[in-house]
Amino acid sequence: MTQSIEKSKALWRKANEVIPLGVSSSFRFHGPENTRYVARAKGAYYWDVDGNRYIDYALAWGPVILGHAYDEVDDYVREQIRLRGTTTALTTDLEIEVAEKFVALCPCVEKVRLVNSGTEATMHALRLARGYTGRDKYIKFEGAYHGVHDYVLYSMYANPVPVYGTRRSPLPVPESSGIPKVINETVITVPFNDFEALELALKRSAHEVAAILVEPVLGNCACISPVPGFLEFLRAKCDEHGIVLIFDEIKTGFHLAMGGAQEYYHVLPDLATYAKAIGNGYPAAAFGGKREIMDLIAVGQVEQDGTYCGNVVSVAAINATLGILQREPVLETIFARGRRLQEGLRSIFAEEGIPAVVTEHPAMIGVIFAEKMPRDQREWELSEKAMLQKIVVEAQKRGISKHEVIREPYFLSYSHSDADIDETLNVMADVTHQVKATWKK
Ligand code: PMP
Repeated sequence: MTQSIEKSKALWRKANEVIPLGVSSSFRFHGPENTRYVARAKGAYYWDVDGNRYIDYALAWGPVILGHAYDEVDDYVREQIRLRGTTTALTTDLEIEVAEKFVALCPCVEKVRLVNSGTEATMHALRLARGYTGRDKYIKFEGAYHGVHDYVLYSMYANPVPVYGTRRSPLPVPESSGIPKVINETVITVPFNDFEALELALKRSAHEVAAILVEPVLGNCACISPVPGFLEFLRAKCDEHGIVLIFDEIKTGFHLAMGGAQEYYHVLPDLATYAKAIGNGYPAAAFGGKREIMDLIAVGQVEQDGTYCGNVVSVAAINATLGILQREPVLETIFARGRRLQEGLRSIFAEEGIPAVVTEHPAMIGVIFAEKMPRDQREWELSEKAMLQKIVVEAQKRGISKHEVIREPYFLSYSHSDADIDETLNVMADVTHQVKATWKK
């Protein structure tokens, strides 16, 4: 079966004339011959402009937890816009309702502010931690992604073997031109799950560190899990040194459990950031945490503002999405289907004799071709990436779509059916067999 994407290719050429790389976010660019354009999406599927249907496991990098164009959310958003407009210079009671939901569902959240993107959420959380501690630096883990503001675009995906420095003395590597060099001085990078490296970094700099910002599961590096005791260690070290512990729950929130990684791993951060699943794909985000810290947000103290913060569209989407998550067995259903996908993938790779790790969480599933779970990005870099990449690309041609970057997990939505999982496993078995049979190092 050969898939034609000629219309997408033609659109890319047209788009590239007026949009850099032909896309509005560079992660959507997969080369001139392979960048698809979407015509329509519903439930677990999207269709490209050439009419090819895909079972979608990218789900826009995770937000679409209920499914594309989910009627109940969209109808509620439309109704709220008709009633209230899209935004005014004042606050609506919807925001209070949503804030109360966050406080009820997210263990560390006593107060919350609503923003529009994950980038905004981590930017504000970091500023708040700095305002609270009076310190400038923060600790970030290699392989973690926290958005695109200057402070966090470090050591995410650069090939770390030659450039990340030693474990004892890691080098923060900026991932973009245009970041002022002075910002380098504010970021301390450490390999994930490395107790000793963290201890050493703190020994040198604890008095200057405002925050430890962590993706509790490395959702942007194949979903590497924290080793037992690591998150507890972060909590203890933050307490010891007066550092603010920030969980970036933008991927893990409402995917690992209703209360996110903090509920699943029973470790309470001081602040947490949310986006993605909270709004089923609408531009919705939030950051919240301890009252004592959040209350520093005040005029002339720590600044947090935004024309669109708390806008009716995003807030209505959050209200509807969290309401459905509370009322219906969304996570249970996703977990059951996700477990079938995990088990199916494990047996496909085992049958083909490919050493593989299919990671632990059924709503966001990483695949790593290695004998055992890497502890951090440095170890992950040593896994068999090229064969996995080929399998992902070939599966895409057969209508199984996940983000082509293999660090990204397979996300599941409430709309994925058992039949979708069956179809996915059939295609994955075929494609894996073909790729393995012809694979030459
Ligand atoms: N933090 C994490 C953990 C993320 O996965 C992302 C997005 N992939 C972000 C922050 C940034 O979110 P946004 O793209 O909404 O700015």
